[in-house]
Amino acid sequence: MPPFTDDRDRVDVRSLSLPEIRDLVQGLGKEKFRALQVYKWIWQRKIASFQEMTNISKSFRAELGERAFLYELALERMERSRDGTRKLAWRLRDGQRVESVLIPGGERLTLCISSQVGCAMGCTFCLTGDLGFVRNLSPAEIALQVSQAEGLLDAGERISNIVLMGMGEPLANLDNVLVALGILLDENALNYSHRKITVSTAGLVKGLVRLADASPVNLAVSLNASTDGQRDAIMPVNKAHGLGELLEICRRLPLPAGKRITFEYVMIAGFNDSLDDARRLLKMLRPVKAKVNLIPYNENPHRDLECPSDEVVGAFQDHVVQGGIQCSVRSSRGLDISAACGQLGKRATQTEE
Ligand code: SAH
Ligand code: SF4
Repeated sequence: MPPFTDDRDRVDVRSLSLPEIRDLVQGLGKEKFRALQVYKWIWQRKIASFQEMTNISKSFRAELGERAFLYELALERMERSRDGTRKLAWRLRDGQRVESVLIPGGERLTLCISSQVGCAMGCTFCLTGDLGFVRNLSPAEIALQVSQAEGLLDAGERISNIVLMGMGEPLANLDNVLVALGILLDENALNYSHRKITVSTAGLVKGLVRLADASPVNLAVSLNASTDGQRDAIMPVNKAHGLGELLEICRRLPLPAGKRITFEYVMIAGFNDSLDDARRLLKMLRPVKAKVNLIPYNENPHRDLECPSDEVVGAFQDHVVQGGIQCSVRSSRGLDISAACGQLGKRATQTEE
């Protein structure tokens, strides 16, 4: 796999967890505590070369350079939307591209990152799905989207929230996502709180259980429908794991105290936006520690799907809230630069590929 080793067979040290760096360091005959020094240099000081590690002997730096290398993403483009949203297009070592999106909002600055090039899940409404699956991102390629975005912020800005809601299905690349989450959470690395990180899935049930067992981050599930018939029609994953199974798994997940699962619900006009849908959604979510995030469909020239009116969205939201479940509406951001939900990897303004 290209990103993990280079043409000289050196290992990508930014794709290693701290215990794996320990193994590497001990394999070179060095003391264990050197691993933590290396880890801090690569994630906190963001070094570009092992030569910069001044508290480490020259010979060890040279040995590390023989065995390992430091991955970096190449920023190909940064586009700024009229609403302040910025889309970062990264080029990977093998020439593939992924995107991240910086979304300002009040006190928050949310960074939305990708977990795969393309996506295999084939949800019919989603443009990322049109790319099909190209490959998984390595741990470094996931964590570096955060680390390098930090270096591109305007003066005084700080990333407050991170969401794995960009290109790809994170739970279909869970091994690498877990290493990357470890790097984001570790106080010796990027040092984000688990309360500020959310992983979103189309509903891979085994992955959900594994993730909830392994990491305290917030979970989001893209539900997008109130019946199996509806969900089957737009999300092929539903044929393998229907709503009953998905919600039962969600009900039983070991959530940290006070946490709720966010259920994302893309609203498509005339398809899943009626008050009957809202009623069914409420009933279905009642046994689960749930909150709902409505995402009015981002229209694009590639799909004949429409966004419901504000009134319809508002009535749906009121119904869910009155039923006792917290429900927010995600405002559409970055539409003019194709940075909105479901548009990554494809220019929505383009009519021909
Ligand atoms: N694969 C994961 C993570 C990507 S998140 C998942 O599906 O959860 C992408 C989110 O954007 C999902 O909730 C998806 O339902 C939503 N989405 C996709 N296309 C959209 C569109 N055109 N308008 C609004 N939301 C969309
Ligand atoms: Fe993949 Fe998520 Fe898009 Fe579905 S909605 S195709 S799972 S990125």
